[in-house]
Amino acid sequence: MKAVIVEKPGSPEQLTYKEIPRPQANENTIVIKNHAIGINYIDTYHRSGLYTLPLPFVVGRESAGEVTEVGPGVQDFKVGDRVVYIGGETYSEYTEAKPASTEKITNDISYETAAAVGLQGLTALTLVRHCYPVKKGDYILVHAAAGGVGLILCQLGKYFGATVIGTVSTAEKAALARANGADYVINYTQEDVTAKVNEITNGLGCHAVIDGVGKSTWDTSLECTRRLGTMISFGNASGLVPPIPISILAPKNLKLMRPQIFGFLATREESKRWWGELFELLAKNVIKTNIYNIYDLKDAQQAHIDIESRKTTGKLLLKP
Ligand code: NDP
Repeated sequence: MKAVIVEKPGSPEQLTYKEIPRPQANENTIVIKNHAIGINYIDTYHRSGLYTLPLPFVVGRESAGEVTEVGPGVQDFKVGDRVVYIGGETYSEYTEAKPASTEKITNDISYETAAAVGLQGLTALTLVRHCYPVKKGDYILVHAAAGGVGLILCQLGKYFGATVIGTVSTAEKAALARANGADYVINYTQEDVTAKVNEITNGLGCHAVIDGVGKSTWDTSLECTRRLGTMISFGNASGLVPPIPISILAPKNLKLMRPQIFGFLATREESKRWWGELFELLAKNVIKTNIYNIYDLKDAQQAHIDIESRKTTGKLLLKP
Protein backbone atom coordinates (compact mmCIF):
# COMPACT_ATOMS: atom_id res chain seq x y z
CA MET A 1 0.00 0.00 0.00
CA LYS A 2 1.02 3.64 -0.31
CA ALA A 3 1.98 5.56 2.83
CA VAL A 4 3.86 8.67 3.91
CA ILE A 5 6.76 7.85 6.17
CA VAL A 6 9.58 9.65 7.96
CA GLU A 7 12.98 7.94 8.07
CA LYS A 8 14.88 10.98 9.34
CA PRO A 9 13.19 13.90 11.16
CA GLY A 10 13.40 17.35 9.58
CA SER A 11 11.72 19.64 7.06
CA PRO A 12 8.65 18.68 4.98
CA GLU A 13 10.97 17.09 2.37
CA GLN A 14 11.48 14.28 4.88
CA LEU A 15 7.92 13.11 4.19
CA THR A 16 8.41 10.21 1.77
CA TYR A 17 5.53 8.76 -0.21
CA LYS A 18 6.28 5.12 -0.78
CA GLU A 19 5.06 1.55 -0.97
CA ILE A 20 5.10 -0.34 2.33
CA PRO A 21 3.49 -3.64 3.42
CA ARG A 22 -0.23 -3.41 4.09
CA PRO A 23 -1.02 -4.01 7.79
CA GLN A 24 -3.03 -7.02 8.88
CA ALA A 25 -5.39 -7.38 11.81
CA ASN A 26 -3.86 -9.03 14.88
CA GLU A 27 -5.26 -10.11 18.24
CA ASN A 28 -7.67 -7.32 19.33
CA THR A 29 -6.97 -5.01 16.39
CA ILE A 30 -8.83 -4.06 13.25
CA VAL A 31 -7.72 -2.73 9.86
CA ILE A 32 -9.29 0.43 8.46
CA LYS A 33 -9.24 1.41 4.79
CA ASN A 34 -8.76 5.17 5.13
CA HIS A 35 -11.01 7.40 3.01
CA ALA A 36 -10.11 10.75 4.65
CA ILE A 37 -7.04 11.53 6.74
CA GLY A 38 -6.92 14.49 9.13
CA ILE A 39 -3.82 16.66 9.24
CA ASN A 40 -2.99 18.04 12.68
CA TYR A 41 -0.24 20.34 13.82
CA ILE A 42 1.18 17.51 15.93
CA ASP A 43 2.08 15.72 12.67
CA THR A 44 4.61 18.49 12.00
CA TYR A 45 6.13 18.02 15.49
CA HIS A 46 6.58 14.29 14.77
CA ARG A 47 8.05 15.02 11.34
CA SER A 48 10.44 17.72 12.61
CA GLY A 49 11.55 15.73 15.65
CA LEU A 50 10.12 18.19 18.22
CA TYR A 51 8.19 15.15 19.50
CA THR A 52 10.18 11.96 18.94
CA LEU A 53 8.83 8.66 17.59
CA PRO A 54 10.82 5.50 16.86
CA LEU A 55 12.12 5.63 13.25
CA PRO A 56 10.96 4.99 10.63
CA PHE A 57 7.28 5.75 11.19
CA VAL A 58 4.11 6.33 9.22
CA VAL A 59 2.95 9.89 9.98
CA GLY A 60 -0.54 10.84 11.15
CA ARG A 61 -2.89 10.64 14.10
CA GLU A 62 -6.39 10.63 12.61
CA SER A 63 -8.46 9.09 9.82
CA ALA A 64 -11.94 7.99 8.84
CA GLY A 65 -12.78 4.97 6.72
CA GLU A 66 -14.25 1.50 6.66
CA VAL A 67 -13.25 -1.60 8.58
CA THR A 68 -11.80 -4.20 6.20
CA GLU A 69 -10.45 -6.76 8.66
CA VAL A 70 -11.21 -7.75 12.23
CA GLY A 71 -8.69 -9.60 14.39
CA PRO A 72 -9.41 -12.34 16.95
CA GLY A 73 -10.95 -11.05 20.17
CA VAL A 74 -12.57 -7.95 18.63
CA GLN A 75 -16.24 -7.79 19.63
CA ASP A 76 -17.52 -4.34 18.77
CA PHE A 77 -16.59 -4.00 15.10
CA LYS A 78 -17.32 -5.90 11.92
CA VAL A 79 -16.12 -5.65 8.33
CA GLY A 80 -17.87 -2.75 6.57
CA ASP A 81 -18.38 -0.55 9.64
CA ARG A 82 -17.84 3.15 8.99
CA VAL A 83 -15.45 4.51 11.61
CA VAL A 84 -13.26 7.39 12.72
CA TYR A 85 -9.93 6.68 14.40
CA ILE A 86 -7.55 8.70 16.56
CA GLY A 87 -4.21 6.98 16.92
CA GLY A 88 -1.04 6.40 14.94
CA GLU A 89 0.07 5.74 11.35
CA THR A 90 -2.82 7.24 9.41
CA TYR A 91 -1.04 8.85 6.40
CA SER A 92 -1.60 5.56 4.56
CA GLU A 93 -4.15 3.62 2.57
CA TYR A 94 -4.77 1.20 5.46
CA THR A 95 -4.20 1.53 9.21
CA GLU A 96 -4.12 -1.14 11.90
CA ALA A 97 -6.18 0.33 14.75
CA LYS A 98 -7.10 -0.47 18.32
CA PRO A 99 -10.88 -0.72 18.78
CA ALA A 100 -10.59 1.43 21.92
CA SER A 101 -9.38 4.35 19.77
CA THR A 102 -12.03 3.85 17.09
CA GLU A 103 -15.60 5.12 17.01
CA LYS A 104 -18.43 4.18 14.64
CA ILE A 105 -19.97 6.94 12.57
CA THR A 106 -23.51 7.05 11.26
CA ASN A 107 -24.31 7.21 7.55
CA ASP A 108 -25.19 10.92 7.69
CA ILE A 109 -21.60 11.81 8.69
CA SER A 110 -19.22 11.79 5.73
CA TYR A 111 -15.67 10.50 6.09
CA GLU A 112 -14.41 14.02 5.35
CA THR A 113 -16.54 15.52 8.14
CA ALA A 114 -15.49 12.84 10.63
CA ALA A 115 -11.79 13.37 9.90
CA ALA A 116 -12.28 17.15 9.93
CA VAL A 117 -13.87 17.43 13.36
CA GLY A 118 -12.41 14.44 15.20
CA LEU A 119 -9.13 15.30 16.86
CA GLN A 120 -9.49 19.07 16.66
CA GLY A 121 -13.15 18.96 17.73
CA LEU A 122 -12.46 16.71 20.72
CA THR A 123 -9.56 18.96 21.67
CA ALA A 124 -11.73 22.07 21.57
CA LEU A 125 -14.54 20.32 23.42
CA THR A 126 -12.35 19.07 26.27
CA LEU A 127 -10.75 22.51 26.54
CA VAL A 128 -14.06 24.31 27.11
CA ARG A 129 -15.79 21.53 29.07
CA HIS A 130 -13.02 20.11 31.25
CA CYS A 131 -9.94 22.36 31.30
CA TYR A 132 -12.05 25.45 31.84
CA PRO A 133 -15.82 24.82 31.90
CA VAL A 134 -17.00 27.83 29.95
CA LYS A 135 -20.21 29.44 31.16
CA LYS A 136 -22.48 32.33 30.32
CA GLY A 137 -20.89 35.70 31.00
CA ASP A 138 -17.27 34.52 30.69
CA TYR A 139 -14.66 36.20 28.56
CA ILE A 140 -12.32 33.76 26.84
CA LEU A 141 -9.30 34.50 24.70
CA VAL A 142 -8.51 32.09 21.83
CA HIS A 143 -5.21 32.39 19.98
CA ALA A 144 -4.97 31.23 16.33
CA ALA A 145 -8.74 31.70 16.26
CA ALA A 146 -9.02 30.89 12.52
CA GLY A 147 -7.01 27.66 12.78
CA GLY A 148 -8.36 24.13 12.97
CA VAL A 149 -8.86 23.99 16.74
CA GLY A 150 -9.39 27.77 16.90
CA LEU A 151 -12.52 27.91 14.74
CA ILE A 152 -14.18 25.13 16.73
CA LEU A 153 -13.23 26.93 19.96
CA CYS A 154 -14.98 30.04 18.63
CA GLN A 155 -18.08 27.98 17.80
CA LEU A 156 -18.15 26.25 21.19
CA GLY A 157 -17.19 29.29 23.27
CA LYS A 158 -20.10 31.19 21.77
CA TYR A 159 -22.49 28.25 22.19
CA PHE A 160 -21.64 27.91 25.89
CA GLY A 161 -22.36 31.60 26.45
CA ALA A 162 -18.95 33.28 26.57
CA THR A 163 -17.77 36.46 24.94
CA VAL A 164 -15.08 35.08 22.63
CA ILE A 165 -12.01 37.15 21.81
CA GLY A 166 -9.80 35.71 19.08
CA THR A 167 -6.34 36.60 17.85
CA VAL A 168 -5.30 36.18 14.19
CA SER A 169 -2.65 37.44 11.78
CA THR A 170 -4.74 38.59 8.78
CA ALA A 171 -8.02 40.35 7.95
CA GLU A 172 -9.30 37.23 6.12
CA LYS A 173 -8.70 35.12 9.19
CA ALA A 174 -10.46 37.75 11.32
CA ALA A 175 -13.57 37.55 9.14
CA LEU A 176 -13.62 33.77 9.35
CA ALA A 177 -13.21 33.75 13.14
CA ARG A 178 -16.11 36.22 13.42
CA ALA A 179 -18.27 34.08 11.14
CA ASN A 180 -17.61 31.16 13.50
CA GLY A 181 -18.63 32.93 16.70
CA ALA A 182 -15.83 35.25 17.80
CA ASP A 183 -17.28 38.49 19.25
CA TYR A 184 -14.01 40.38 18.99
CA VAL A 185 -11.01 39.59 16.83
CA ILE A 186 -7.60 41.14 17.34
CA ASN A 187 -5.16 41.18 14.45
CA TYR A 188 -1.97 40.93 16.50
CA THR A 189 0.18 42.18 13.64
CA GLN A 190 -1.54 45.56 13.97
CA GLU A 191 -2.84 45.82 17.52
CA ASP A 192 -1.51 45.23 21.01
CA VAL A 193 -3.37 42.17 22.27
CA THR A 194 -3.11 42.90 26.01
CA ALA A 195 -4.25 46.52 25.60
CA LYS A 196 -7.19 45.46 23.45
CA VAL A 197 -8.22 42.68 25.85
CA ASN A 198 -8.08 45.13 28.75
CA GLU A 199 -10.25 47.54 26.79
CA ILE A 200 -12.84 44.84 26.06
CA THR A 201 -12.88 43.43 29.62
CA ASN A 202 -12.76 46.75 31.50
CA GLY A 203 -9.22 46.02 32.62
CA LEU A 204 -10.13 42.70 34.26
CA GLY A 205 -8.78 40.29 31.66
CA CYS A 206 -10.28 36.95 30.58
CA HIS A 207 -11.67 34.14 32.72
CA ALA A 208 -9.72 31.72 30.56
CA VAL A 209 -6.98 32.05 27.95
CA ILE A 210 -6.73 29.11 25.55
CA ASP A 211 -3.33 29.13 23.91
CA GLY A 212 -2.21 26.65 21.24
CA VAL A 213 0.51 28.93 19.86
CA GLY A 214 2.98 28.50 22.72
CA LYS A 215 6.29 30.30 22.87
CA SER A 216 5.39 33.58 21.15
CA THR A 217 2.09 34.12 22.99
CA TRP A 218 2.94 32.89 26.49
CA ASP A 219 3.64 36.30 28.06
CA THR A 220 0.59 37.91 26.48
CA SER A 221 -1.59 35.03 27.59
CA LEU A 222 -0.51 35.43 31.20
CA GLU A 223 -1.13 39.18 30.99
CA CYS A 224 -4.61 38.61 29.59
CA THR A 225 -5.74 36.11 32.25
CA ARG A 226 -7.77 37.75 35.00
CA ARG A 227 -7.24 37.28 38.73
CA LEU A 228 -8.41 33.77 39.72
CA GLY A 229 -8.53 32.90 36.03
CA THR A 230 -7.31 29.86 34.09
CA MET A 231 -4.47 29.80 31.61
CA ILE A 232 -4.43 26.78 29.32
CA SER A 233 -1.37 26.13 27.19
CA PHE A 234 -2.11 23.25 24.82
CA GLY A 235 0.28 23.56 21.89
CA ASN A 236 3.50 24.87 20.42
CA ALA A 237 2.85 26.11 16.89
CA SER A 238 5.44 28.88 17.47
CA GLY A 239 7.80 26.73 19.56
CA LEU A 240 7.94 25.24 23.04
CA VAL A 241 7.15 27.43 26.03
CA PRO A 242 10.41 27.66 28.02
CA PRO A 243 10.40 26.32 31.60
CA ILE A 244 8.71 28.74 34.01
CA PRO A 245 9.00 29.35 37.76
CA ILE A 246 5.71 28.29 39.33
CA SER A 247 5.65 31.52 41.34
CA ILE A 248 4.75 33.35 38.12
CA LEU A 249 1.15 32.28 38.83
CA ALA A 250 1.03 33.80 42.32
CA PRO A 251 0.26 37.49 41.69
CA LYS A 252 -3.13 36.66 40.17
CA ASN A 253 -3.80 33.27 41.86
CA LEU A 254 -3.92 31.63 38.43
CA LYS A 255 -4.66 28.05 37.50
CA LEU A 256 -2.44 26.63 34.75
CA MET A 257 -3.17 23.56 32.67
CA ARG A 258 -1.20 21.83 29.92
CA PRO A 259 -3.58 19.17 28.52
CA GLN A 260 -3.24 16.74 25.64
CA ILE A 261 -6.21 15.11 23.96
CA PHE A 262 -5.02 11.52 24.27
CA GLY A 263 -5.23 11.82 28.07
CA PHE A 264 -8.98 12.43 27.79
CA LEU A 265 -9.56 9.28 25.75
CA ALA A 266 -7.76 6.78 27.93
CA THR A 267 -10.75 4.55 28.73
CA ARG A 268 -13.66 3.33 26.64
CA GLU A 269 -16.08 5.24 28.90
CA GLU A 270 -14.24 8.55 28.51
CA SER A 271 -13.92 8.06 24.78
CA LYS A 272 -17.63 7.30 24.39
CA ARG A 273 -18.58 10.34 26.52
CA TRP A 274 -16.52 12.84 24.51
CA TRP A 275 -17.32 11.38 21.10
CA GLY A 276 -21.00 11.28 22.10
CA GLU A 277 -20.98 14.98 22.99
CA LEU A 278 -19.10 15.81 19.81
CA PHE A 279 -21.57 13.95 17.57
CA GLU A 280 -24.49 15.68 19.35
CA LEU A 281 -22.98 19.11 18.77
CA LEU A 282 -22.31 18.19 15.14
CA ALA A 283 -25.93 17.07 14.69
CA LYS A 284 -27.13 20.36 16.22
CA ASN A 285 -24.88 22.23 13.79
CA VAL A 286 -23.05 23.87 16.72
CA ILE A 287 -19.80 22.39 15.43
CA LYS A 288 -19.40 23.10 11.74
CA THR A 289 -16.61 21.97 9.43
CA ASN A 290 -14.26 24.43 7.75
CA ILE A 291 -12.20 22.42 5.28
CA TYR A 292 -9.35 24.48 3.85
CA ASN A 293 -8.14 21.91 1.34
CA ILE A 294 -8.10 18.21 0.55
CA TYR A 295 -4.68 17.11 -0.71
CA ASP A 296 -3.73 13.82 -2.36
CA LEU A 297 -1.83 11.60 0.05
CA LYS A 298 1.22 11.92 -2.19
CA ASP A 299 1.14 15.71 -1.63
CA ALA A 300 1.56 15.53 2.16
CA GLN A 301 4.75 17.61 1.84
CA GLN A 302 2.77 20.51 0.40
CA ALA A 303 0.16 20.22 3.13
CA HIS A 304 2.87 20.49 5.81
CA ILE A 305 4.48 23.45 4.04
CA ASP A 306 1.08 25.15 3.93
CA ILE A 307 0.05 24.59 7.57
CA GLU A 308 3.48 25.71 8.82
CA SER A 309 3.41 28.81 6.64
CA ARG A 310 0.38 30.05 8.64
CA LYS A 311 -1.66 30.67 5.52
CA THR A 312 -4.21 27.92 6.18
CA THR A 313 -7.49 28.16 8.07
CA GLY A 314 -9.64 25.39 9.50
CA LYS A 315 -8.90 21.80 8.59
CA LEU A 316 -6.53 20.21 6.08
CA LEU A 317 -7.28 16.69 4.88
CA LEU A 318 -5.45 14.06 2.84
CA LYS A 319 -7.17 11.68 0.43
CA PRO A 320 -5.46 8.29 -0.15
P1 NDP B 1 -3.75 25.66 13.23
O1 NDP B 1 -4.66 25.43 12.10
O2 NDP B 1 -4.25 26.48 14.37
O3 NDP B 1 -2.41 26.29 12.69
C1 NDP B 1 -1.53 26.96 13.52
C2 NDP B 1 -1.82 28.46 13.60
O4 NDP B 1 -1.04 28.99 14.67
C3 NDP B 1 -1.43 29.25 12.39
O5 NDP B 1 -2.39 29.27 11.37
C4 NDP B 1 -1.17 30.64 12.97
O6 NDP B 1 -2.38 31.41 13.01
C5 NDP B 1 -0.77 30.34 14.42
N1 NDP B 1 0.66 30.64 14.62
C6 NDP B 1 1.13 31.63 15.38
N2 NDP B 1 2.47 31.65 15.37
C7 NDP B 1 2.85 30.64 14.54
C8 NDP B 1 4.12 30.18 14.11
N3 NDP B 1 5.27 30.75 14.52
N4 NDP B 1 4.17 29.14 13.23
C9 NDP B 1 3.05 28.56 12.84
N5 NDP B 1 1.80 28.95 13.22
C10 NDP B 1 1.71 29.99 14.08
O7 NDP B 1 -3.28 24.23 13.80
P2 NDP B 1 -4.12 23.18 14.64
O8 NDP B 1 -5.50 23.64 14.83
O9 NDP B 1 -3.88 21.83 14.08
O10 NDP B 1 -3.37 23.21 16.05
C11 NDP B 1 -3.33 24.42 16.80
C12 NDP B 1 -2.47 24.18 18.03
O11 NDP B 1 -3.14 23.27 18.88
C13 NDP B 1 -1.12 23.55 17.74
O12 NDP B 1 -0.14 24.10 18.58
C14 NDP B 1 -1.33 22.09 18.10
O13 NDP B 1 -0.16 21.44 18.46
C15 NDP B 1 -2.28 22.24 19.26
N6 NDP B 1 -3.07 21.02 19.53
C16 NDP B 1 -2.91 20.44 20.74
C17 NDP B 1 -3.64 19.34 21.07
C18 NDP B 1 -3.49 18.76 22.42
O14 NDP B 1 -4.01 17.67 22.65
N7 NDP B 1 -2.80 19.40 23.33
C19 NDP B 1 -4.54 18.69 20.09
C20 NDP B 1 -4.68 19.42 18.86
C21 NDP B 1 -3.94 20.55 18.60
P3 NDP B 1 -2.26 33.04 12.94
O15 NDP B 1 -1.48 33.29 11.69
O16 NDP B 1 -3.63 33.53 12.87
O17 NDP B 1 -1.51 33.43 14.19
